Amino acid sequence: MNIGRVEEALKSVVHPVKERDVVSLGMIEDIKVDPEKKAVKFKLVFPSPDALSSSIKKNCEQAVRDAFPGQDIKVGIMELVRERKIEKKVNLEMGQEALANVGHIIAIASGKGGVGKSTVAVNLAIALSKAGYRVGLADADVYGPSVPKMTGTESEAPLVDDSSGKEMIIPIEKYGVKWMSIGYFAKPDQPLIWRGPMASNALKQMVLQVIWGELDFLLIDLPPGTGDIHISIVKDIPLSGAIVVSTPQAVALADVEKGINMFRSKDINKPILGLVENMSWFTPAELPHNKYYIFGKEGCKKMAERFGIPLLGQIPIIQSIRESGDNGVPIALQEREDSAAFASLATKLVATLTH
Ligand code: ADP
Repeated sequence: MNIGRVEEALKSVVHPVKERDVVSLGMIEDIKVDPEKKAVKFKLVFPSPDALSSSIKKNCEQAVRDAFPGQDIKVGIMELVRERKIEKKVNLEMGQEALANVGHIIAIASGKGGVGKSTVAVNLAIALSKAGYRVGLADADVYGPSVPKMTGTESEAPLVDDSSGKEMIIPIEKYGVKWMSIGYFAKPDQPLIWRGPMASNALKQMVLQVIWGELDFLLIDLPPGTGDIHISIVKDIPLSGAIVVSTPQAVALADVEKGINMFRSKDINKPILGLVENMSWFTPAELPHNKYYIFGKEGCKKMAERFGIPLLGQIPIIQSIRESGDNGVPIALQEREDSAAFASLATKLVATLTH
């Protein structure tokens, strides 16, 4: 009993209207086989509600049973409708097999630390997932991995699967997103002091040695700044592009310019999908119509215009963004006005990539 045998069996199930088999239509995902328990599980995904879904499901179950005659196989099929799906865009090189079924890989960068890069990355991942996309986030901030804390997964220890002959890490799944962070491999009180090649290798492992499976978006939370580590990761990973996060403050913007120049350099040459301005203004609860531009007004907007880059979003300073990050329950999970900025960022990003 193995995954290949199950997939082979499912190829005999033909969608009666589309006249193609369910495997080649991309309707089968995440096949899991447990030979000891004689159990097979997989997802059966319909691109839109389908009147034939229950008969197709029955046929899939029968096809798997027929493939293992005489054995009392347990077949678990999770049926779901996913109307949105990004087509695979990544061109792979050797060593990048983990990314074979990933639509877009997007680096989240910042010129400086503390501007909210990780906050934006985590909330954008959740907002994309809530919009129906399959999302993963690799926290490659070797110096200050904050994804475990922001997602309340600090106590998780990812498992390693070596059934393919290569050690691959299984990501942590929570809030509808697959998370991987270098922080899962270090104790909270243990400083991460990797430098140079060791840091860039550890960081690449967080992306290339993970069982991502099928994803529409894989976000990579890069360390702040620009340097050799960044150059090595952005060169070796097939990015669709980068998002640069900054506050509107002049000192932060000076470093953004360095970041833009790095992505645009001849050596790297990856598109910048847009800028995100964080901590754009503050509105006190008792004065809901007032905006205070604490870090300056529209700094990123002007910068975006100067460099011909879209401004993907402006996110105000909101106490609950900070609190929810500290509590491990990101604000984008909640249906409230404060999370609207991230939902709109997700919509704009998708529009940028699909038009
Ligand atoms: P970076 O990844 O750039 O170092 P973080 O995402 O860790 O920055 O954010 C730094 C701090 O600022 C965190 O405590 C975070 O909760 C807070 N923060 C980020 N963005 C906002 C915001 N829009 N409103 C309030 N607090 C924010």
